[in-house]
Amino acid sequence: MKGLMMDYQLTLPAILKRADALYGPKEIVTRKPDKSFHRYTYADFARRAKKLAIALKKLGLQDGDRVATLGWNTYQHLEAYFGIPCASLVLHTLNPRLSAEDLAYIVNNAEDRVLLVDETLVKVLDSFKDEVNLERVFAFTYDDSPAPEGTQSYEELLESADESEFEYPDPDERDAAAMCYTSGTTGRPKGALYSHRAICLHSMSLGMTDLFGICERDVVLPVVPMFHVNAWGLPFVSTLVGSKQVLPGPHLDPESLLEEFQDEGVTVTAGVPTVFLGVLRKLDENPGAYDLSAIRAIDIGGSAAPEGLIRAYQERHGLNVVHAWGMTETTPVGSASILRSWMDDLPEDEKYRIRAKQGTPSPFIEIRARGDEGFVPWDGETMGELEIRGPWVARAYFKAEDGSEKFTEDGWFRTGDIVTIDQNGYLEIQDRSKDLIKSGGEWISSVALENAIMSHEAVAEAAVIAIPDEKWQERPLAVVVLKEGRSATAEDIIAHIAPHFARWQLPDAVEFVEAIPRTATGKFLKMKLREQFKDYTLAEK
Ligand code: AMP
Repeated sequence: MKGLMMDYQLTLPAILKRADALYGPKEIVTRKPDKSFHRYTYADFARRAKKLAIALKKLGLQDGDRVATLGWNTYQHLEAYFGIPCASLVLHTLNPRLSAEDLAYIVNNAEDRVLLVDETLVKVLDSFKDEVNLERVFAFTYDDSPAPEGTQSYEELLESADESEFEYPDPDERDAAAMCYTSGTTGRPKGALYSHRAICLHSMSLGMTDLFGICERDVVLPVVPMFHVNAWGLPFVSTLVGSKQVLPGPHLDPESLLEEFQDEGVTVTAGVPTVFLGVLRKLDENPGAYDLSAIRAIDIGGSAAPEGLIRAYQERHGLNVVHAWGMTETTPVGSASILRSWMDDLPEDEKYRIRAKQGTPSPFIEIRARGDEGFVPWDGETMGELEIRGPWVARAYFKAEDGSEKFTEDGWFRTGDIVTIDQNGYLEIQDRSKDLIKSGGEWISSVALENAIMSHEAVAEAAVIAIPDEKWQERPLAVVVLKEGRSATAEDIIAHIAPHFARWQLPDAVEFVEAIPRTATGKFLKMKLREQFKDYTLAEK
């Protein structure tokens, strides 16, 4: 027998409608490129998001067409987060830190028709625009500055629209609302395509007290960028529940962030460890200089938050860090480490150890880990690859030409993270099966670097491994074997590959060796190589 409840669709138009009706006076604050602040209300935001939806429709776009963005965390980007899906189009966020080659590939693969670009990022667009077929480009500008050359004005686009023409669309909740590309372990980046339903349910989960507990009284400052993994879904949940939003624009330095935490009364912030290591250093150097008493949680993820970082915030500054885990393919938050009531009496050291794990899965997210002999027991010791399923986990990639190996036969997603799961269901990442290096929260593909290095005529073989780094967490080291009788310097090799990568993706050092250890089947044995270079410090080079 079927239940008799309405089949109400969980969609972004429903979130915008609610925000417009209930949170009109609440504030959205943006740090502009010149460091001054732009302030407006939810009522202004909703009006402009609706105008964007109307204006985009008038450009002749069809339902489901992709509209890309290249922007910082700003009010215009927030308008795009809602205006694009509320025109039955798909919001495609582009990461300006990627190389021109990757960006061109991603825009072409997604078949983006229109791009909204922040005026400060037009240089990035120029680096790949000749390789793509964008029909229109509109620039987010500030304080009446004219649209940069080669772009049209976003403000004029909005002005051209009449808000009274707006009608809330009623898409199927399974329709695509947004997309974001992930870095491939091998091959090219792949598109995760988020449905309205996935984003709505994910937003509800972030509002739960046992996760991030985002609510109307919160003042939320996402440091995590809106150009990647939906800024962990914070713009969506904040708009759903009507939190004040503080968007830091391009200024992600500790001083700017600390000013905003204090002056705007921020209660929740979120970002990668690198950012909060920098903030911690600033706080340590200036004890008592900032009043951060409003902060109730600093949500850290994207890379492992070291126990020492969690401890330092708590013990030296009385600030609560929540360690979370997620992926592009999981919308992105899949777990967070929050202590259970029955852990209250544990020794402090033990509590920190648990808080430093990646935590328990969000409601409706299921986890299991597969080892060589099947699924591993939840004993906190046996390692396996984390598999996950749930309503906001990808079931395929966009234009799924490749990537099917990421999904199990029974429909779970293989994360590539090697984990243990303890008796209480807390997962802890031990290693990564995917061959990627994560530097400051951004990926570097070791395979792509290796292929590029091996195209140098003097190189016989090359392996790239991650070296732990205090500031960036991991940095790439290239280990190279030269062909017999040939010579090349580290500089030659870096110069050879430099045109194909963003500068920050280039190896920090190149080490020359006689041979790279291999497995029985001839693959590089990176574990062995990592072991060989475990005491290597990049700073010395
Ligand atoms: P991305 O798709 O770029 O968001 O990257 C997802 C990957 O980042 C995960 O599969 C992990 O390898 C890594 N990651 C995310 N959060 C954490 C965390 N809290 N600790 C360790 N690794 C993490």
